[in-house]
Amino acid sequence: GEALLEVKNLVTSFRTAEGSLQAVKDVSFHVDKGETLCIVGESGCGKSITSLSIMRLLASNGVIESGEILLNNEPLQKLTNEQMRKLRGNKMSMIFQEPMTALNPVLTIGYQLREPLLLHHQVSKTEASQQSIELLRQVGIPNPEKRLNQYPHELSGGMRQRVMIAMALACHPSLLIADEPTTALDVTIQAQILDLINDLKEKLNMGVLMITHDMGVVAEVANRVMVMYAGKKIEEGPVEEIFNNPQHPYTIGLLNSVPNVDDPDFELEPIPGNMPGLNEHIPGCRFHPRCKFAMEKCKIQEPPQFTVSRGHSASCWLAEEEAKKNGNNGKVAI
Ligand code: SF4
Ligand code: MG
Repeated sequence: GEALLEVKNLVTSFRTAEGSLQAVKDVSFHVDKGETLCIVGESGCGKSITSLSIMRLLASNGVIESGEILLNNEPLQKLTNEQMRKLRGNKMSMIFQEPMTALNPVLTIGYQLREPLLLHHQVSKTEASQQSIELLRQVGIPNPEKRLNQYPHELSGGMRQRVMIAMALACHPSLLIADEPTTALDVTIQAQILDLINDLKEKLNMGVLMITHDMGVVAEVANRVMVMYAGKKIEEGPVEEIFNNPQHPYTIGLLNSVPNVDDPDFELEPIPGNMPGLNEHIPGCRFHPRCKFAMEKCKIQEPPQFTVSRGHSASCWLAEEEAKKNGNNGKVAI
């Protein structure tokens, strides 16, 4: 595919009273047009900070220390804050877990949909209203004309999330960043929203960067998957490879903690222990205190990124053999 977003060696830190804490440690990945990349990991692994770095929406003590972020080959760090503001909601949009925080409670749905259209596309108010109705129809909201005059609190959670997606799509973004967009919704609505994102991705040839802790969501939407642990990318690959041939024990642990509806006797096997804090120094592999396969080497030497097969890499010493078997002897960038 054609690269839409490229993130190269991103390092993001937070300045705190305890000093500078690194939340994203040298992470590289890309999103192509018309594909969905899922970033997966536990809360605090750096997945949300990665997306906020891309959007330049970090808290005021957050700093991108180094690395490059390119959208359509354009380095985003060169843009002024004003240019970035224009880019957000235009070339790239973001949807969050809780739409109530992104929707303004005192403005009607219609007003909030029209505003970005008037701002970015310079259409008339009537045209903007017509486009708003069309957008609501596109995201599957019944009686869109009526909805325009309603306030966010008059809608259900699922409907609000659809409105959020309609707002995010208003300016035909080429990249949609979705951070846990369905976590707050019940399973039926969640499935509908994921279907909707899939449909729109295909229809509009959008690139989607989906952030989630839920492997069930990954199975529904991902073309490719990147797994993060304690600020680092630890595995990346096509979704079939991640599910059928996972290499990193942490990825295997995540997959084993998904309930299996077909097998009621299947026991959840959550990964024991906690992810290290940002200021915790752990020599060698950062997963080794929790890893049941940890070897002496793991406690001393950090594993490089081994290429297991085309597009599939893992940072684990166990993947070294697999990589060699396939003629890749490690440290090969994808
Ligand atoms: Fe476990 Fe060692 Fe692999 Fe780290 S490098 S995940 S400790 S086997
Ligand atoms: Mg988060």
